[in-house]
Amino acid sequence: MRSIQEVWNAVLQIMQNDAGISRAAFDLWIECITPVAIEGEAFVVSVPSVFQRDIIEQQFAQQLTSAVETAIGLPLSLFIRAEDEEQQKAEEDKMDDSLRHDLSSYYKMINPFYTFKTFVVGPTNNFAYATAQSVADKPAGAYNPLFIWGGSGLGKTHLLHAICNEMHLKNRQAKILYTSCENFTNEFLIALNRQTLPDFRQKYREVDILLIDDIQFLANKEQTQEEFFNTFEAVKNAGGQIVVTSDRRPNEIATLTDRLKSRFEAGMLADVQPPPIETRILIVRSKAEQLHFHIDKNVCDYIARELKTNVRQIEGVINKLHGEYLLNGTIPTERLAEEAIANVRNDNQPVAVTVEKVISEVSRTMGVSVDDIRAKGGNANIKQARKVAAYIIREITKMKMEEIGNEFGGLDHSTISYAYKNVADKMKKDTTFKAVVEDIMKNLKIGC
Ligand code: ADP
Ligand code: MG
Repeated sequence: MRSIQEVWNAVLQIMQNDAGISRAAFDLWIECITPVAIEGEAFVVSVPSVFQRDIIEQQFAQQLTSAVETAIGLPLSLFIRAEDEEQQKAEEDKMDDSLRHDLSSYYKMINPFYTFKTFVVGPTNNFAYATAQSVADKPAGAYNPLFIWGGSGLGKTHLLHAICNEMHLKNRQAKILYTSCENFTNEFLIALNRQTLPDFRQKYREVDILLIDDIQFLANKEQTQEEFFNTFEAVKNAGGQIVVTSDRRPNEIATLTDRLKSRFEAGMLADVQPPPIETRILIVRSKAEQLHFHIDKNVCDYIARELKTNVRQIEGVINKLHGEYLLNGTIPTERLAEEAIANVRNDNQPVAVTVEKVISEVSRTMGVSVDDIRAKGGNANIKQARKVAAYIIREITKMKMEEIGNEFGGLDHSTISYAYKNVADKMKKDTTFKAVVEDIMKNLKIGC
């Protein structure tokens, strides 16, 4: 599914190549336009000033509208906002603004194409779908918090965005805050550092609905968990709704504090599992239809038969076939689909996790700086973190002991072998330690 920016890139390409306007006019009047959102049947863009808006409306509206229509494949009207006018309005209405949610940042985070309508429902996701819909209809009702869990590429993020889109459509004033767990963590750490926690708390606590994606990344981050717990309580006590997603059930996130686990367990748990063949066929058809792209039934069936566990891969194959069709006019066949499937599968192999990422994740989790881990010596904590990093690098990258040693100020291979064995032994004896190491590894594999 394309983001609004991708749609806009296609519009720009059409405007540049096929709209019959000069390069100078393009640079002056088209480049200053920023895509904002699709609202109902309008494609909303913004420009810095009323002056620019007027010129664009007079001179280029027709070409732009038709470029948008070609890029999306649907007739949409063009709505141009002028930022200076909006700013003026906002200033005139300060009271309102202080109450209002920051819509521009909202639009940037939410994919307008991830809606309930574009979600294909089947026996393995219908419960998650129904609970998500119920939350969007009646926030802070029966399902609070709603905890959606399941493997990668099965529609968790899609459902979160669908809740946001639906709620926003129903009530423009609703304070909807969607973010990833990673983003929540980063913003919290920045706020701590800059001593701007009150702003952070106002942002996250004064909302009607807070949706946090991939909550499993809270594992091992004690301070952030504490902040999240307090955020959770504050939002709930103020009558707000919480929705989170995770790749695991709450009790499988090893280092999640018990009180957070029990809060999640006390809410509604809904899982998404890989869809059966019938649903996968519907998904293939639906994705192709959204692109106005015809794929023969036997090719649709073939794709659905081959890709069993991850809808993102199905989408990747259709996008690839569509790209080839647009570029060369190639009609999709089973053979082309087979190639595209092989490509998508390769792309989805565990990504080569770099040494840098391992060390930085170990550093964050174990509270030891990257520089200390990379240097020689140090106190017991530093040495422990270094051993864990060496162990994980060996497990994930299969680099040679000697090469790994070079990453840590030139430790020799026997030291690394010892570290590896030491960590492996400790993991056998100490289940908490084992959980920490495994969580770091899981985060690395999922996070890249
Ligand atoms: P997750 O967050 O579970 O990893 P996403 O929500 O990002 O997965 O889904 C991956 C892609 O697959 C998205 O583009 C999404 O639109 C699509 N997708 C997943 N499940 C469905 C579904 N049931 N119907 C339509 N599209 C789906
Ligand atoms: Mg996701």
